[in-house]
Amino acid sequence: MTTQNTHLHIDGVSKNFGDVKALSDIDLKIERGSFVCLLGPSGCGKTTLLRIIAGFETASRGRLMLDGSDIAQIPPHKRGFGMVFQSLALFPHMSVARNIAYGLKLRGVSGKEQRNRVEELLNVIQLPSIADRPVSALSGGQRQRVAIARALAIQPKLFLLDEPLSALDAKLRDNMQIELRQLQQKFGVTTILVTHDQHEAMMLADELVVLKDGAVRQAAAPSVVYQQPADSFVADFLGAANLIDAGAYKSGEIELLGTSSKFATHHPEGTRLQAAVRAEHIQLLPVSAAGHAPVGTVAFMRDLGPATELIVDVGRERLRVRCPNTECQGLEIGTQVAVVLDPAHMSVFNAA
Ligand code: ATP
Repeated sequence: MTTQNTHLHIDGVSKNFGDVKALSDIDLKIERGSFVCLLGPSGCGKTTLLRIIAGFETASRGRLMLDGSDIAQIPPHKRGFGMVFQSLALFPHMSVARNIAYGLKLRGVSGKEQRNRVEELLNVIQLPSIADRPVSALSGGQRQRVAIARALAIQPKLFLLDEPLSALDAKLRDNMQIELRQLQQKFGVTTILVTHDQHEAMMLADELVVLKDGAVRQAAAPSVVYQQPADSFVADFLGAANLIDAGAYKSGEIELLGTSSKFATHHPEGTRLQAAVRAEHIQLLPVSAAGHAPVGTVAFMRDLGPATELIVDVGRERLRVRCPNTECQGLEIGTQVAVVLDPAHMSVFNAA
């Protein structure tokens, strides 16, 4: 059921391009004022879903309900959505001010109001003195801000962004993510952003929608998706988890890493499982303190500054481990270590 706070309901949307099933039965309720990131690998259908919302594609099945009304018949330019795409599509030889005012002019807003709005937005994007410059004379980051200001100028009902930061270098991209999030909060505009970058999605989103092969695998707050991934794909896609072969053992326990390590599970005995454990949730101890913990050998070490990244071989498994530098002194390649897994930080999935 659509709640009062649902701004956009993507209701059972599917899309086929000939034989290609780009989207299958997408059902999402997007809350008013929220920032939603559509995240997934190349070809998972992110852009297709955004283009259907924008009105550039039509769904093969399903409905788009904006504030409870079906918008299928409304053409893109009448939906009142602000859009920023990777290519930005600014008019290079027009001034910054004319670019930002473009949508306002099309809507018949008076010259005075256009000037006021442009001035306000240039202040918001912290570029108050560039109104008269041609867009072709701006840096990449400045153009990005102008494209965002242009999309927000019309006070859009929805703000849609497709990989808007992917052309920027890492440092600028980091800064722009913070600015984008602050702008979105300031305007309180419902925002949907497409990205294949999990860090970007974690940084920006109130709700993360993870897609694979045209279907939603999980939709939840970033911390929930990170800590309680719905399946092994999500666990692996977000933060490169270790996926360890395991088996359901007698009396609701699992066995993994060829030892008697056991954790409670609801899977019936004999089921093949996968346990997902993040690198930072594996603890390494001296073998003398191992107890029943499995023992492995350090195969690789890299100092990352505050932490050390290690590969530890345990039987047939290669585990990625990240430990604070203070906790891995004395370790070197070839050292034998006990590997301690915390059930509170482990997700278990059916391997099938
Ligand atoms: P990327 O991150 O690479 O942009 P994406 O997740 O945005 O990928 P889409 O561009 O939505 O994925 O594509 C989803 C699937 O639909 C892909 O298999 C793609 O080849 C196919 N597809 C998209 N647009 C068309 C089209 N116009 N005609 C035919 N197939 C298409």
